[in-house]
Amino acid sequence: MIKSFGYVAHSATSQLVPFTFERRDLGSQDVLIEILYCGICHSDIHQVRNEWKNSSYPMVPGHEIVGRVTKVGKEVTKFKQGDLAGVGCMVDSCRTCENCQDGFEQFCQKHVAYTYNSTEMDEKTPTYGGYSSHIVVDQAFTLKISPSLSLAGAAPLLCAGITTYSPLKHYVKAGDKVGVIGLGGLGHMGIKFAVAMGAEVTVFSTSVSKKDDAHKLGAQHFVVTKEAENLAPLASKFDFILDTVSAPHDLNIYIELLGRNGVMVLVGAPEEPAEVGAFALIKNNRSLAGSSIGSIGETQEMLNFCAEKNILSEVEVISINQLEEAYSRTIKSDVRYRFVVDLKTLPQLS
Ligand code: NAP
Ligand code: ZN
Ligand code: ZN
Repeated sequence: MIKSFGYVAHSATSQLVPFTFERRDLGSQDVLIEILYCGICHSDIHQVRNEWKNSSYPMVPGHEIVGRVTKVGKEVTKFKQGDLAGVGCMVDSCRTCENCQDGFEQFCQKHVAYTYNSTEMDEKTPTYGGYSSHIVVDQAFTLKISPSLSLAGAAPLLCAGITTYSPLKHYVKAGDKVGVIGLGGLGHMGIKFAVAMGAEVTVFSTSVSKKDDAHKLGAQHFVVTKEAENLAPLASKFDFILDTVSAPHDLNIYIELLGRNGVMVLVGAPEEPAEVGAFALIKNNRSLAGSSIGSIGETQEMLNFCAEKNILSEVEVISINQLEEAYSRTIKSDVRYRFVVDLKTLPQLS
């Protein structure tokens, strides 16, 4: 076994503390990655605090991982020692069910081995995430990272990036009027991708202070949602709206903004269900949908798209002992726009 070190939550109410644990020895298809940076996704906070009621402890969070390959298994062809590598929200799936065969591993009908708060394919061995020194992952679930990308700015692409790229790619075409609700980690990537795809982008935000940033990110319009009258003139104007909000909020006021056959996709995952009025959807033949991360293939496509267009996350790099502060600022919507942990700041293994 490979001795590893990270930060762990032992319960929904405890702070993250140092933790020594073991990674499996390298199998023939595995790569050993020394983790350099790991983004802090709001899903980490939901899960550490058991807001989705599916948490198991001890939990080492983190699924926006970039690092360097330090060793490869005997049959690994995709990576060699010294290569950059990324790991997102999944580390394995059955690979044989219909969804896996069709390239939708995130919907594996047998078991998705998520990167943390989950189990390996034996459905017993817990998985531990990226707030840690290194990780062992099958090459098939390891992504290639272009050396042209800044590593800290690339880490959030592994979740915030793919989660926004995937639905935008699916629904949006150049010239569409696109709304992004919530200017946080997912939201700011959503703006960048929608702009890169040629959409006209409006940001809906509760934070007046983010207006200048929204424009710098490429959005043409910024609407403060705390005043309901700001939304009224926009009724039926949008082709597509991406909702990235992490806390309970009214969906109906945004559905009203969709034009004919308009679609609103929820990627934000608040702990409480939302009420939706049938008439809001009936008008204009509107659709309300969801979207879950993206497949491994689509994640690689997104990373390549980012390398080509030099798209990166706007990050605040922090040391591992600033996790609590980063969590509380994220909850206050005060993240600009992703916290990324520099794993060099992990205390040395004793
Ligand atoms: P984040 O950085 O905290 O951003 C969320 C943003 O939502 C905030 O910055 C804020 O933007 C807005 N917001 C927060 N509380 C609000 C409230 N009470 N009312 C209205 N707006 C509010 O979070 P994130 O990392 O982007 O994640 C967003 C959500 O997506 C989380 O629930 C996360 O679990 C989920 N997620 C889903 C997937 C998936 O596969 N579907 C993948 C990753 C994450 P403003 O300041 O602009 O209002
Ligand atoms: Zn995430
Ligand atoms: Zn499967």
